[in-house]
Amino acid sequence: MRRVALAVLCGLALGIAQAAPLRYAITIEIDDGGEIVGQVTMSGVALGDWPEAVVRLYPAAFGADRLSVTGAWVEGEAVSFESVEATTATVALVATAGQTFSLTLGYRGTVPEFAQAGGYGSYARSGDAVVLTQAYPILSPWDGAWVAHPVFPWGDAIVAEVADYEVDLSVPAGWVVVAGGVEVEVAPGQYRVEGENLRELAIVLVRGHEVQTASVSGVEVRSFYRPEHDCAGRAALAVTADAIAAFVDRLGPPPFSTLDVVSVPLRGVAGIEYPGLILVGETYYNRYPLDPLFFPMIFAHEVAHQWWYAEVGNDQVAEPWVDEALATYTSGLYFAAQGRFAEILRYWESGYAAGRLQNRTAGIASPLWEFPGGSGYGGIVYSGGALFLHAVRERMGDDAFFGALRRYRDEFRWRLATGADLLRILSDGSAIPLDDLLKTWLGF
Ligand SMILES: [Zn+2]
Repeated sequence: MRRVALAVLCGLALGIAQAAPLRYAITIEIDDGGEIVGQVTMSGVALGDWPEAVVRLYPAAFGADRLSVTGAWVEGEAVSFESVEATTATVALVATAGQTFSLTLGYRGTVPEFAQAGGYGSYARSGDAVVLTQAYPILSPWDGAWVAHPVFPWGDAIVAEVADYEVDLSVPAGWVVVAGGVEVEVAPGQYRVEGENLRELAIVLVRGHEVQTASVSGVEVRSFYRPEHDCAGRAALAVTADAIAAFVDRLGPPPFSTLDVVSVPLRGVAGIEYPGLILVGETYYNRYPLDPLFFPMIFAHEVAHQWWYAEVGNDQVAEPWVDEALATYTSGLYFAAQGRFAEILRYWESGYAAGRLQNRTAGIASPLWEFPGGSGYGGIVYSGGALFLHAVRERMGDDAFFGALRRYRDEFRWRLATGADLLRILSDGSAIPLDDLLKTWLGF
């Protein structure tokens, strides 16, 4: 973990200001060659005494030209900015705790062809999809210091506070915009996207995709897929809708009223969650109906992240187990509703055993950097984390366990929680102490 901050100010800053909603007003133009030019104004209330602000440019982990800051203005006045490393820039925004601020950044970037894209390919273009995730400067969270971890090539890199978004997007002719939040085509090639309480805003342009829709538990679900994947695209919609219904039954109302599921090329990952939008690798649509356990698992898992990550956030780099264990365990509620819970339990057991063989030193609650190359990460953090939560549920009983998860939602909705917060709420809700389970499974 690396933090960019003046440590001397940290003590003064803690606990002074309440989080106020952040706002992002963004304009983005993208051309046929994948060049993007944009401007973002982020505004809100300073949460501490800030000598500077830290913004992240996540796509630059795979090349500084992928996304970079071209100018910075505070209240209309040009201010200096500096690249600390490709994904992290500081901006001369001086603010005291509780003061409102407005920071405007110009930026530009190049969206690579999928074959040249690094990582999972979640910032990449192909013949029928342009995936623009984290395609703008994102303000780091402040927790007494700026949270700015290095970007690792495995796991999820982003740690962000929720914000309200207004985006004006200009795209080449022939593309349809699909976004987290609600998108409206206001003129040919001109889209307006709006969303509230989004931890980030993902945008995908598709061309020639089919769409199927469903309405479930107050959520309008859309499944976008290539025409040749009609069966898989419909199955994706059905699993997503059934998962939402199963989760609402145990966890309470859905965080968002819209959810888009979009099939795109991805590599090294089956699906990726964003607020109001899920990306799923089209490889899995090709293989459908093979993988009768794994195919629905992808959608159930990413849907669960709408509760754990999008609504209740956490530091996905320092404590990836917090949202991954919860999302994995929550996905089991979908399988339970299908009468398949024993199947998913066996999958977690074999996954955890395999993960521990791959990585003998990391545990369920280890940070991302203790899984070099991603070794053992899924088996230990996801499957092991789900088994830990299953043990807790069996100890507490269903009413107490799901009651505690609903309280965790209520207390940390649209905030960043820690593993300690989750464990405190579970322990407080349990009639029988959980200490031995925490020791056995998490080593605490
Ligand atoms: Zn996940």
